[in-house]
Order: sequence, then C-alpha cells, then structure tokens
Amino acid sequence: MKQSIKSRHDLVAFSEGILSGDRIVLSQAITIIESNLESDQKFASLLLEKVLPRTGNALRIGITGVPGVGKSTFIETFGKSLIKKGKKPAVLTVDPSSPITKGSILGDKTRMDGLSKDPSAFVRPTPSSSAIGGVANKTREAMLLCEAAGYDVIIIETVGVGQSEIAVRNMVDFFLLLILAGAGDELQGIKKGIMEIADAVVITKADGTNEKNAAEAQGIYQQALHLSSVPPSGWQPTVLTSSAVTGNGIEEVWSTIVKYTEHIKANGFFQRNRSEQNVSWFQDYFALLLKADLQKYESLKSVQKNLEQALSNHSITSQAAAEKLLDAYHDVMRSDKS
Ligand code: GDP
Repeated sequence: MKQSIKSRHDLVAFSEGILSGDRIVLSQAITIIESNLESDQKFASLLLEKVLPRTGNALRIGITGVPGVGKSTFIETFGKSLIKKGKKPAVLTVDPSSPITKGSILGDKTRMDGLSKDPSAFVRPTPSSSAIGGVANKTREAMLLCEAAGYDVIIIETVGVGQSEIAVRNMVDFFLLLILAGAGDELQGIKKGIMEIADAVVITKADGTNEKNAAEAQGIYQQALHLSSVPPSGWQPTVLTSSAVTGNGIEEVWSTIVKYTEHIKANGFFQRNRSEQNVSWFQDYFALLLKADLQKYESLKSVQKNLEQALSNHSITSQAAAEKLLDAYHDVMRSDKS
C-alpha cells in the first residue's frame, strides 16, 4: 500500500514514495529541493542521505546548444527512442536565467510535451533561481532523486552561455553539443571552448535541403576536433548528424554514447570522473553554505556594504576588502561562541 504523505517533511513517506518510483512524490520532493527555506534545505539533505544507496546507477548525459538549435525536439525524439529500448529517461534542466531580464533563457513554453506525458519518462521544467551555483546544486540533487526513483538515463539540458555548460559538464558522464549547420558560425570562439568539453557534437536538423550543409559541417567539425588534444577520458570526440523530424542519426547518437561508456568504464575514467565530481560538488556546496552563513549576520552585511562602497571609490583593493570581510566574519564567529 502506498504511504501517504502526512507532512511536508515526512521523511519515511517521501523516501518510500521515491524509491517506489512515484512520480508525484518525486516532483514534490524536487519542489522542496528547489525551495530556499532553511527547513526545506535541511529536509532535502536528510532525504538525499536516505536515498543515497540507490543513486549513481544511471547514465548521466548533458546536452547543450544555442536557443533554436533543436534541443527540446532532439530530447523528445531521443527520449522516446530510449523508452522503446526499455529505458526510463528523466530530463532536467539548468537554465542560467538571464541576470539582466531575470527571465528564463530556455523559455517557459511547454517543452517535450510527448515525453512528459509518457509514464516511462520524467520531465522537470526549469527551476527558477538566480545564481548558477545554486541552480546547478539543485539540479544535481534532483538528478540523485531521479536515480533513486529508478530513472536510468538522466538527461540534463542547458543553453550555451558558458558558465552553465561547465556546471553541467561537471555533473554528467557524457556531454553532447548540438550545433546548427549553415548558420555561418562554424567554429566560433565560444563554441570552440564548449567543443573542448564535448564528448560528441551533433549537427541538428539534417533533413531536407539542410542535409547537405549538415554533412559538410560534420567534416569541418571532425577535422577541428582531430586537431585538439585527446581529453582525459582518452575518447576522441565524434561528430554526428541527426534529424529529430525524420529520426535519422538518433540511433547513432545512442550507440556512440554506449561505445563511449564502455570505453571509459574499461579505462577507469568513469569511476575516476565520478569521484572527482563528488569532491568538486562538496567544494561547491561548502562554498555556498559559507556564503549563505555570511548573509545571516546583520553586522556583516553592513561591513560588506561599507567595503563595497570603498571599492567603488577605489579606496581599497579587492583583495584587502575580501580579507577584511573574512576578519569580520571570524570576529563574529568568536563572539558567537563566547
Ligand atoms: P531549442 O530552443 O534548442 O530547444 O530548439 P527547439 O527544439 O525548440 O527547436 C527550434 C525549432 O527548430 C522548432 O521550430 C523545431 O520544430 C525545429 N526543429 C527542431 N529539430 C528539427 C529537425 O530535426 N529538423 C527540422 N527541420 N526542424 C527541427
């Protein structure tokens, strides 16, 4: 019998619901993870600890590309093909909400409609939060809950603005860059940086009149990737073409991911990478906690404000200001204890 949730912080009901694959409970738990309330954060931490033994068994895939490249259409088609293979995909997003407009870059439109209605899939719309570090942490935690709920392929989507790619690269096993051919922007600087962290590049919309452009772009990118040094995974990134409309190339993307995974499991990179990611998450998380702790003390807020004022007047260096704030933090800690 299903355990009913008696309170927002009912640990037993939440963990049992998640472990039994209950999508509603999973959604509710992710909402708690996304909340910034301290009590919710504490509960999320307990819940994650409880389900931890059942996490880590999924294949984690990151997908990025500029708006309009075809990410959601690709994920929809790709996700459905995974379901046909008996897989259970979960799709999460890291949306680096624009700091200027405060709006979401990935968009609030309903995305991956077919996939989200499929009982074998789980699609979670974008969490809205400001700092990229915060969003990344919440997506990471949501990923662990999805794994505990039995999803075995986790797809994390993000959009190409640099910082979010690095954050996503740091939480997945395989990182896929989607590119549009013939947009006149082959090998742009920003993409080159992102290409360096991609395990495969897929030229999207390779159908109709665009098929020829896609094949040409494939050659250009493959050549460029051959010139860069082999990444720590020992895997030479591959360039593929695909069409989410005709379905061409979708199967090859999956077989490339399977080949890559076999390769990194055989050479030890898979485990090493996951271990390094764990350490890096811990460091990120600790930095966030420290920052949040600092914000709790009113007296420090005024110290910080004065230092920022001094910085804008150029009367102090950034380094000296940071040291002064740290000293003030230490003072508060000491007086807290006495
Ligand atoms: P996103 O912003 O990267 O998520 O891009 P979307 O998936 O929303 O796709 C942007 C536009 O490209 C939509 O109008 C899609 O219908 C179209 N599109 C996506 N994939 C394909 C494809 O494989 N072939 C063609 N011809 N159009 C596509």
